[in-house]
Amino acid sequence: MADADLEEVPCNMCGSSKPRAHKLFSKNGLWVTRCRKCHLVYVNPRPVQSRLWERYSEEYFTKEYLPAYGDFNPEANLSRHMGILNAIDRYRQTNCLMDAGCAVGFFLDAARRRGWDVCGVEVSEYAAKYGRERLGLNIVNSTLEDAGLTPGSFDVITLGDTLEHLRDPAGTLRAVSRLLRAGGLAYISTPNFNSLNRLLFGRRWGVIGPTEHIYYFTPRTITQLLTKSGLAPTSVTTGSINTYHYLRGNVDEKVLKVYDAIVRRARPLVEPLIRAFRIGDGLEVFAIKRGYVHARPSSS
Ligand SMILES: [Zn+2]
Repeated sequence: MADADLEEVPCNMCGSSKPRAHKLFSKNGLWVTRCRKCHLVYVNPRPVQSRLWERYSEEYFTKEYLPAYGDFNPEANLSRHMGILNAIDRYRQTNCLMDAGCAVGFFLDAARRRGWDVCGVEVSEYAAKYGRERLGLNIVNSTLEDAGLTPGSFDVITLGDTLEHLRDPAGTLRAVSRLLRAGGLAYISTPNFNSLNRLLFGRRWGVIGPTEHIYYFTPRTITQLLTKSGLAPTSVTTGSINTYHYLRGNVDEKVLKVYDAIVRRARPLVEPLIRAFRIGDGLEVFAIKRGYVHARPSSS
């Protein structure tokens, strides 16, 4: 990538500049670095906005995103999102749910089927149009910060595999906090930089993709960033690990076979350890917007 297409950025969490970042490894000609002060992992220098957003083209959605989901099937879509839909149900007050980085809006469609008033924001013009025209959804083609939404109006805001793509995750989380009602819920899923796969295979773990994933979080850094943004994490967990997905093609096939066989054999033992040490592939976070005013009985 030409120098003109790259920009240097300070740490998004603590504001420290480049000399305070430790280079971890390079991939696709870009450096993945870790802030020495707050340990946030990020790509620096990184592609400028126009280069980052090129990725979310019509071609990406028609050739990669949509084929990965198969033909759109409302029932299958609803069942795929059932876990998260069940978890958020008890937060209904305004009945408004927003998905930031909603892509074509499959999650929004599932939430709507569960009775939520839904809207989405999406920077890909193609994806936003697809969701509006084919699924009849309210999707704003914008970043969350610029979408012109009403503060304090949402019960739930979701960011599914979005945060790692954003140019200013701290700014977006502050916007999430502003848009949620007091006591409302933010739900975030994002890759786990502390996953066993990353610890074992480093940059060969396919999730490491500095041309589009420009931030990488651990249970500790996601907790810190949310807290700084006015959101109080109530649950930070990881799922399990996948021994093939995102490794095949990057790691020697023989090594992968042995690794897969070991993990599969030891699954009953390994699984609880992965969850206990939070070294699964993906982070799943629930956080509450602070600012609940508890009614106090009058002392008089
Ligand atoms: Zn920092």
